[in-house]
Amino acid sequence: MSFDFDFHSPEEEIQFPLFKKKDLRVFLKRDDLIHPFISGNKWRKLKYQLLKAQEHNKHRLITFGGAWSNHLLAVACAGAKFGFKTVGFVRGEEISNPVLSMCKLYGMQLHFVSREAYKHKESLFEQHYATPDDLFVDEGGYGLEAVKGCADLVSELTASYDHIFVACGTGATVAGILKGVQERDLRTRVHGVPVLKGGDFIREQVEQLEVDTAELSLHLDYHFGGYAKIKETLVEFVRYFVSSTGVMIEPTYTGKTCFALFDMIRKDTFAPGDRILLVHTGGLTGFLGMYHAFDQ
Ligand SMILES: *Cc1c(COP(=O)(O)O)cnc(C)c1O
Repeated sequence: MSFDFDFHSPEEEIQFPLFKKKDLRVFLKRDDLIHPFISGNKWRKLKYQLLKAQEHNKHRLITFGGAWSNHLLAVACAGAKFGFKTVGFVRGEEISNPVLSMCKLYGMQLHFVSREAYKHKESLFEQHYATPDDLFVDEGGYGLEAVKGCADLVSELTASYDHIFVACGTGATVAGILKGVQERDLRTRVHGVPVLKGGDFIREQVEQLEVDTAELSLHLDYHFGGYAKIKETLVEFVRYFVSSTGVMIEPTYTGKTCFALFDMIRKDTFAPGDRILLVHTGGLTGFLGMYHAFDQ
């Protein structure tokens, strides 16, 4: 299989007057540049699952997500690229949107299931697809392979950082980054910004993946009301960030994470001279689900 395991996304410094004033340097790990549709952390989370699928002679990937899921799109595209059939269970009533259309374009078969049925992912898999051909891929790519793939991010780094910031949905990405930092004995502090309300559950999610959380800081106050919820201050911030850097971000993940970082910098959370890396986890098609909020 012709994976480009060696693609290292660049680390790119961004400049804002605030950083200068506080004597900090801030860099983006541009995982959004890995691939337009197998985007960012979704590629990192999938790559070892794809190898496992190939090793175990699986020909079909069965997975799960919401109607704007970056993970569904990543699986659909990766399936087409690497020769797997793909099936996506979509949470909620049947709708159409650009992300689901792209999933179908890549050949993914979609099943819309009620929120209740969606909670029982294993039984959906068992009932419909558990042939030896099929590989269950959890929602968001969550699992031990994801941790391994995201730990690779740390081994790619070309410089050292005092802090790494990343958005958390299931917690698999931050788990992998933590693991990478621990494996290399770095003194880097890892910061997770949960994008859901009540994000403290991320700590358990990380521990379930067998990663120690003593070095993890979670910042629980930047969810803006919950998953995919936005507020005018976040919209204004994203507008300011994108128009000042030329780097596109979406509000659901990287927008909230950047907002958290700027807010903490304003509150003097960091020591002068600190170097901070923020992971741009990609997923830019998420913007299409909320462009109306920016349409003024
Ligand atoms: C899925 C996703 C995340 C969350 O990653 P987890 O590993 O589930 O915590 C962060 N950013 C983007 C852009 C995503 O699509």
